[in-house]
Amino acid sequence: MNSKLALLGGPATITQSFKHYNPIGEEEVQAAKAVIESGVLSQFIGAWHPDFLGGPKVKEFEALCAQHFGVKHAITVNSWTSGLIAAVGAIGIQPGDEVIVPPWTMCASATAILHWNAIPVFADIDPQTYCISPASIEANITPYTKAIMAVDIFGQSADMEAIMAIAKRHGLKVISDTAQAPGALYKGQYAGTLADVGGFSLNYHKHIHTGEGGILVTNDDEIAQRLQLIRNHAEAVVQGMGVTDLTNMVGYNFRLGEIECAMGISQLKKLGHFVDGRQHMAQRFNQALSNLPGLTTPYVMPDSTHAYYVYPMQLDTARLGVKRETLIKALQAEGVTGLGGGYQNVHLLPMFQKKIAYGSKGFPWTSDICQREVSYAKGICPVAEQFHDESYMGFAMCLHDLSDTDMDLIAQAFHKVWNNLSQLEHV
Ligand SMILES: *Cc1c(COP(=O)(O)O)cnc(C)c1O
Repeated sequence: MNSKLALLGGPATITQSFKHYNPIGEEEVQAAKAVIESGVLSQFIGAWHPDFLGGPKVKEFEALCAQHFGVKHAITVNSWTSGLIAAVGAIGIQPGDEVIVPPWTMCASATAILHWNAIPVFADIDPQTYCISPASIEANITPYTKAIMAVDIFGQSADMEAIMAIAKRHGLKVISDTAQAPGALYKGQYAGTLADVGGFSLNYHKHIHTGEGGILVTNDDEIAQRLQLIRNHAEAVVQGMGVTDLTNMVGYNFRLGEIECAMGISQLKKLGHFVDGRQHMAQRFNQALSNLPGLTTPYVMPDSTHAYYVYPMQLDTARLGVKRETLIKALQAEGVTGLGGGYQNVHLLPMFQKKIAYGSKGFPWTSDICQREVSYAKGICPVAEQFHDESYMGFAMCLHDLSDTDMDLIAQAFHKVWNNLSQLEHV
């Protein structure tokens, strides 16, 4: 079917705007209201005291999370960025230690490492799953490597069996950044629960949220205690608690409030429903888009499920004869919202390119705690860089609540653009 593309002045395929994705409902309103009326909005005390572990809603939410995800301990925090910082500290990372992390992630995966004056080392990603590549992890291990930060990007677990085997062989700890994949399964277990410590974001943009917030999960009693200490003024608590190992016992206030935890209890109950919804949308996209030449739909590992925070696609732009940016503009002009090209190449951020983080003199890289010259040059992660620069395109699945009719309209817009690619040759 030939018709003039909207980008060139033709009629747009989609003229309405879609319903905003909103996981918050009446249950959360009532839960928040009850806490406000109780007058106890946070019960935490930053001292060795019965309230060191927070108030009733914090404890209830944490118990439910532990049960839901099948782990021994769940620990709430005021953001997942805080959670990542606590995780890196809790596994006992020392200044100058190297932690391997992918660049294809939200920046906090890497800055949490830097936070403890440890050195992020970037490993490339797998071209099918977009998660950290086990082979690239191996290639980046040095005598200074102490941990791996695996990111379950877009909604699918990293290859944890391979990663845990590497960790075991080299005596490394593993952290799972599962911010984008709550509810996804990896070989029968929830993503995030296979590492030494993992966890989820509860920020406004994720599958379920409490405005801001995060949940740490671990099966390790010692790590759990250290996470609780870092969350809540460790330095003031260790003595009373009788903790003698002071490694990284510099505490913060990473505490999540009672209102958020009360809402989190309702949100957790709905998680399965929301993930099912994203999976349904993805199925419909798969059916509609898999026959488009030069477009690759998402790959899901066998024995895994995908939570589809993002629906990731790859474009063969040479075959299509059109640049990604032009295609995205054409699709946007047809009324498709939620599309993005590129995603992240964290190693190319100014902080890493200029090696200026704490202070202005290159700390920690220029200090003698940094045991070797670590490169952040363009070229160290060719797969992630190629995706970023040329071939990756993602559709944000937690932006809108799309009905089947909406999905079909979006698919129609893709087909219209694909049927009329020649119109874009000179754009
Ligand atoms: C959202 C996100 C974070 C940070 O979570 P916040 O709760 O916003 O601090 C970290 N890593 C990844 C992969 C994320 O998507």
